[in-house]
Amino acid sequence: MDIQRSLFNDFEIDNNSEEQVEQPKQLTGEEARIVELRETLNRHNHSYYVLNQPTISDQEFDHLMRELQDLEEKHPEMADPLSPTQRVGSDLSQGFKQVQHERPMMSLGNSYSIEEVQDFLRRAKDGLGGEPVEIVGEMKYDGTSISVTYENGRLVRAVTRGDGVRGDDVTANVITIRSIPLELPKGMDFPAKFEVRGEIMLPWASFERLNKERAFNEEPLFANPRNAAAGTLKLQNSAEVARRGLDAYFYFILGENLPYKTHTEAMEAARSWGFKIAHTEVLESIDAVTDFIERWDKERKSLPVATDGLVFKLNSLRQWLNLGATAKSPRWAIAFKFAPERECTKLKSVSFEVGRTGVITPVANLEPVLLSGTIVKRASLHNEDIIRQLDIHDGDMVYVEKGGEIIPKIVGVDTKQREAGAEPLKFVTHCPVCGTALQRIEGEAAWVCPNKWECKPQITGRIEHFVGRHAMNIDGIGEEVAAQLHESGLVNNIADLYDLTVDKLVSLDRFQLKSAQRIMRGIEQSKQVPFERVIFALSIQFVGETTAKVLARNVHNIDRLMEMSAEELAAIPEIGPKIAQSIVEYFAVDTNRDIVERLRWAGLQMALSEEELANRTTKLEGKKIVISGVFQHHSREEYKAMIEQNGGKNVSSISKATSFILAGENMGPSKLEKAQKLGIDIINEDQFLDLLK
Ligand code: AMP
Ligand code: ZN
Repeated sequence: MDIQRSLFNDFEIDNNSEEQVEQPKQLTGEEARIVELRETLNRHNHSYYVLNQPTISDQEFDHLMRELQDLEEKHPEMADPLSPTQRVGSDLSQGFKQVQHERPMMSLGNSYSIEEVQDFLRRAKDGLGGEPVEIVGEMKYDGTSISVTYENGRLVRAVTRGDGVRGDDVTANVITIRSIPLELPKGMDFPAKFEVRGEIMLPWASFERLNKERAFNEEPLFANPRNAAAGTLKLQNSAEVARRGLDAYFYFILGENLPYKTHTEAMEAARSWGFKIAHTEVLESIDAVTDFIERWDKERKSLPVATDGLVFKLNSLRQWLNLGATAKSPRWAIAFKFAPERECTKLKSVSFEVGRTGVITPVANLEPVLLSGTIVKRASLHNEDIIRQLDIHDGDMVYVEKGGEIIPKIVGVDTKQREAGAEPLKFVTHCPVCGTALQRIEGEAAWVCPNKWECKPQITGRIEHFVGRHAMNIDGIGEEVAAQLHESGLVNNIADLYDLTVDKLVSLDRFQLKSAQRIMRGIEQSKQVPFERVIFALSIQFVGETTAKVLARNVHNIDRLMEMSAEELAAIPEIGPKIAQSIVEYFAVDTNRDIVERLRWAGLQMALSEEELANRTTKLEGKKIVISGVFQHHSREEYKAMIEQNGGKNVSSISKATSFILAGENMGPSKLEKAQKLGIDIINEDQFLDLLK
């Protein structure tokens, strides 16, 4: 089969437009209002997410959305999976179905210099028998590729690249992406059936927010927006996908008999139907190509999304057909890759910051530089050992890179630019806030301020941690309020929060009644927060969310936790000696024991609930279990909960350490292969349920 023939189309005008004409139905007033609201909301969505030009306020938008939600509830017969109300996603879990691409999704050849781009153009021209070519330049968006199919103006399917021939059907997740039209505006001249291809992106701002949250929850960070976008697109929970803020840029349309002669014409058409289109420029000469490279290597740094290069394409779609493709990539396009982003800037000074556990973090203050779309003024220096390894001196010119971390890092020094007489950077010996002599934890690179009860950032840091969303989830206490509560003398430790009243709060400077009430409501509700999160909220060093869960499950109540020895604790699977030691030290401090007693008095959950206890077993203790595929009896979330209930751990990827795989139907072929290679047991639903009986 001639792949290119099916890959791209002939150029006859599409006469099939009857297919688009819908039979008008008789709608009642409310039903007609549903249709109208959907169109209105789609239009505002497009203005906001594609054009970046909001046409109504957020409140008005929410108001219309709520009206539509209410009406849809009243008229279930009008349900539509593509209604704007469905953009919020759901937590239904189903494995992904594998779908064969109608046309394979190929990759692109690479080039790294203008000479290589010239070679590519020469080859293309030769292949066309010396015909002149027109070139277009585009950004190479660094996300994860997607193919989206539309029929009669409605989105019907979205599939990942996969291995190029088959990909995962991720439609449920893709419809949560606001900049992707679900229904094209009526009356537009789009083909009855076509496919658009583009890149799903997690914009820098969302990426940074996500990694900040993950750092807070002690979850592994995403190395870059590409991994984050790909990971997000494969989540089983489309509500979470909706929350993360993906975006999409498109750069191809494919279909039978599409009427366009050039790539730019096709892209303009797609733009007019509401797609967010890759930035495309026609380049008249090789000098224009050079210019384009130089210009965008700078300007891409202020784009809201990550790019890792440019793509040059021939503009004529007929020439695409004539040139065809090699086994891997088309002959009419080439990628141009930029060197990874790194900037050199001056180290102005170093601040030493004190965290909630007293650990001192050195932070570099830099002469501001533009790096991957954001202005960087600060960079992490990690700890004393790293400062020494990098041999940083005062006032050095340093190289900064943005990796997966939230804060960019310093990766080297340009010693040639070092000023004569510059001194090696010295680490502080005393706490920069309270002046206490620092201590170094044995076996750790970190220096710690031991003044737990009087050092302000430690006190406010613990309060902020305690009220956090994954801890006690008390709304209304951010950095500023925590500081204010501490300075006013109202709250010196987390137990003091439970002595607060609305009156005490409104007596504070600039404190609104409403905020006070909100905080008091949150404090009241926190008394229902499960035991495992109470453990997490205490700020015991090294006890993150996962460790807190393990402790709750194994230890059952706070009294037992307080009296356990380091040996007993370390005997719990997943609790290492370092964590065990830290727990023992925490409860050895009288103030901490007092705080726990006061929290107990306040009514916090200091043990697993009856219900949690009743269903708990240790049948899967120490087991690491991968869940894969689609299930009949229970949802994936339910299986996950069962694993945890029975002492096991649900892990996402297969490794030697995996105990077994709980497999439903359609387990991914790559997972299957890996499991077989590593000799890991695969058990089905029924076997799993038997195991727990
Ligand atoms: P690579 O994965 O490095 O082989 O690069 C090829 C991939 O770049 C394609 O499969 C697309 O997912 C992606 N890409 C990003 N921007 C563009 C663009 N403007 N045109 C074509 N492909 C692009
Ligand atoms: Zn201190």
